[in-house]
Amino acid sequence: MVGYKTLKREDYMGENLKLRGSFQWRDGDAGAAPTWVEGELFVHDGVVSRRPKQGAVYRELSGFAIPGLTDVHCHVGVSSAGAVDRETQREQASADRDAGILLIRDCGAPTDTHWIDEELSLPKIIRCGQHLARPKRYMRHYGLELESQEELPEEVARQAKFGDGWVKIVGDWIDRSEGAASDLKPLWGGDVMRDAIAAAHENGARVTVHTFAHDTIDTLLDAGVDCIEHGTGMDSDQIAEAARRGIPVTPTLLQIERFGDFADQAGEKYPVYAATMARMDARNVEHQAELAAAGVQLLPGTDAGGYQHHGSLPVELARWTELGLSAREILDFATWRVRDYLGAPVLSEGAPADVVVYGSDPRADITVLQRPETVILRGAVV
Ligand SMILES: [Zn+2]
Repeated sequence: MVGYKTLKREDYMGENLKLRGSFQWRDGDAGAAPTWVEGELFVHDGVVSRRPKQGAVYRELSGFAIPGLTDVHCHVGVSSAGAVDRETQREQASADRDAGILLIRDCGAPTDTHWIDEELSLPKIIRCGQHLARPKRYMRHYGLELESQEELPEEVARQAKFGDGWVKIVGDWIDRSEGAASDLKPLWGGDVMRDAIAAAHENGARVTVHTFAHDTIDTLLDAGVDCIEHGTGMDSDQIAEAARRGIPVTPTLLQIERFGDFADQAGEKYPVYAATMARMDARNVEHQAELAAAGVQLLPGTDAGGYQHHGSLPVELARWTELGLSAREILDFATWRVRDYLGAPVLSEGAPADVVVYGSDPRADITVLQRPETVILRGAVV
C-alpha cells in the first residue's frame, strides 16, 4: 500500500544538531516497540543518527525527543466556509507544525495542497483527495457530491490516483428528506460500499470513513474498510471485530464533544436526529474508552479545519487520559504506532530528522506535549 512517501527535496541538508537527553528510538525491526534511550542523538544531513559525523560542529540541545506528532484527521485547505487560499493553508499548516505536528493525513480537502510538498518549513501531508459524499448529505463546500450512489466506486478510483494512498468517504449524515423523522442515515448501500473499497484497494489506496451512526458500521466492516473516523455508533461486537481485524479508529474527542451543540441546533426541526446526537453525547467518552479497552488502535486526530483549530492535537491527546490510558500509552499511539500504521518512519538510524523536543518527560505527563521547546523539521530547527 502507498502511504508515506519520500517527498521532493528530501535531500535538503539541514543543520548539525546534538541532542543530549532521552529519546524514543527504534533499533530493531519495523513493528517492534521503540525503546527510550538516554544519551546523545545527532542530526546531520537531514537525518537522525546515534553516531556523530567526523569533523562536524554541532549546535547543542537538551530534553526529551520524539518523532514529530501525526494528526491523521487534519483538513489543511478547508475552513468552515469551504476551500481556503494558499496563504490560509500556510497558516493552518504552520499552526500544526508549531504544535509539533510534522505529519498530517488530511482526511479530505476540496483544494489541491500539493504545493506544500515543496515547502521545507511545512509539515508533510498524506492526502485523501476530496471527501466523497452525496448532495445535501454532508457539510456544504467540502465534499464531492455524487448524484447517484452508483458513481462511488469509479470516483474512489479517481481520488485514489489523486491522493497519497488514501480515500475519504462520508459514511453517514443526517438525511433531511424525512422532515421531523429525519435521522442519521448511511449515504451508501452495502454493495456500493463493497465495490468502492475494492476499487480503492485495486488502486493501491486505503479507505477511511466518517461515521457517527450505528447503522453504517456493519456495512463498513463487511466491505473491508481500513480505518474509521469518530466511530461513535459502534456497538461492543463491532468494536471487538475492529480490534480483531486491526481496524483503527480516530476518536476525535474534541470534535464529538460538539454532539450536544449539534443536537441543540437541530432542535425542534429534527427531533429524532437531535435525540440520536444527544444520546451519543451522553456517553461519547465512555464509548471511546470502550475502544481503548477492547484493544482497538486509536489514531491521533483533531478534525482541524471545520470546528477545531489547527494545532489542537496536544490538547486532544491530553483528553485521552479520560479514556483510561496512561501518558505512556497515549504517547505510543501518538508516535510510533500511528507512524507504523501510515508507513512513516520513526526515529531510527538514518531516518528523516523530523523531531520534537520537550523540556520535561511526556511519558510522565502527557500535557507536556502542549509545550514543545524545539521543532526540527527536515533536519533543521524551525
Ligand atoms: Zn473531518
